[in-house]
Amino acid sequence: MEPIKIVIAGPRGRMGREALELIHKTEHFILVGAVDRTNEGKKISDIEGLPPLDAVIFTDLERCLQEVNADVLLDLTTPEIGRAHIKIAIQYGVRPVVGTTGFTQDDLKELELLVEDKKLGAIIAPNFAVGAILMMKFSQMAAKYFQDIEIIELHHDQKLDAPSGTGIKTAELIAQVRDSKKQGHPNEYEHIEGARGAEYDGIRLHSVRLPGLVAHQEVLFGGEGQTLTIRHDSYNRASFMSGVKLAIDTVMKIDLLVYGLENILE
Ligand code: NAP
Repeated sequence: MEPIKIVIAGPRGRMGREALELIHKTEHFILVGAVDRTNEGKKISDIEGLPPLDAVIFTDLERCLQEVNADVLLDLTTPEIGRAHIKIAIQYGVRPVVGTTGFTQDDLKELELLVEDKKLGAIIAPNFAVGAILMMKFSQMAAKYFQDIEIIELHHDQKLDAPSGTGIKTAELIAQVRDSKKQGHPNEYEHIEGARGAEYDGIRLHSVRLPGLVAHQEVLFGGEGQTLTIRHDSYNRASFMSGVKLAIDTVMKIDLLVYGLENILE
């Protein structure tokens, strides 16, 4: 396979560390640079606990891309920094693969135009776990038969955004096949604000944040005399890495923005 030269942003984060292991063990992936808030000029291998990779760390992506020749930017940071990183990568003709969550519809529209203009591949995947993608697809199938749906997403308590990107994406996919519907009793009210969760097209979304959790989601469907529950659990961040690998390989072959791993799974 042709080697793919990668710059990673967020290498010391939980996803970043796992992605470095993936790059280290994948023969055709070459880490050519890293972007971190600290450790300017050090190598990845200088940082305790990170794999023995020689790539140099920069505190600024633009300078990094001026100095190294990269094919792909793998961004695993925050939406604020990720948004800026994607724009810089596109400007330098480097294909973004983004696991960072929390982008708005307006962000996606803007990025789609930038990518289109440059005829460059880009992938933004709010969930890289293949099982989670199947959970979303199965939920979309089930929504044709069950119109009353509640989504409960559960994550570790360090997660910044709520509801999760996967929760929102699930609701979006369901809304494509289900007529808009107000659920619950027509006169229902909340004793405590938020008790019924967030609402997307009538679907209720609930966000649980607890230490000990990684990334989990249940989609509950209710019908006459029956319920159906579809659940996915990511127990550690290794669960995301087959999706990261697929996205990096795929982004080299496309020239548009793909949002969601489900659009590249065969
Ligand atoms: P994390 O452990 O908090 O790591 C975030 C990383 O971003 C850290 O290395 C952090 O550096 C860095 N960062 C934050 N602000 C920065 C800035 N201004 N400039 C440069 N670097 C900055 O989070 P995580 O669990 O790895 O998750 C990272 C992102 O991926 C989040 O958006 C999360 O929601 C998302 N995620 C996606 C998936 C998926 O499947 N797509 C799965 C899990 C998580 P410091 O240590 O200096 O703060």
